[in-house]
Amino acid sequence: MTGTATSSPERVPLVDYLVLDDGPPHLIAHECTSCGARYFDRRNACASCFGTDFTTVEIATEGTLRTFTIVAFAAPGVEVPFVSGVIDCDGTSVRGNLTNVEPDSDHVQTGMKVRLTTYSLGTDDQGTEAISFAFEPAP
Ligand SMILES: [Zn+2]
Repeated sequence: MTGTATSSPERVPLVDYLVLDDGPPHLIAHECTSCGARYFDRRNACASCFGTDFTTVEIATEGTLRTFTIVAFAAPGVEVPFVSGVIDCDGTSVRGNLTNVEPDSDHVQTGMKVRLTTYSLGTDDQGTEAISFAFEPAP
């Protein structure tokens, strides 16, 4: 630590449902006030009941891996293999990649406990850091 006064670099989430404000990072969803269906993207109407009122809810940061795919081929520049999964976060399905785990079926299993984590995608010339999320095995 130096005594130099610096403005704290800005951290920008890659997706707008990732919240990086005070406290631990978490995901939010839009919940239909009529039937409780949850969506991560913005909806004008609920696909389940056609309701149009939504409230914002916090998604549990720990969950269970419901299904996954080990991705072996991807666009140039994307490191493979990686694990793409669907995580059941206390009843809400969240799509995300797994990190901090060997991407093979010896280490990744349906039903394993995982938790939300964030990582940096890099910092631009203005010092703005892009942040994305993934899931890692929970202890
Ligand atoms: Zn609904």
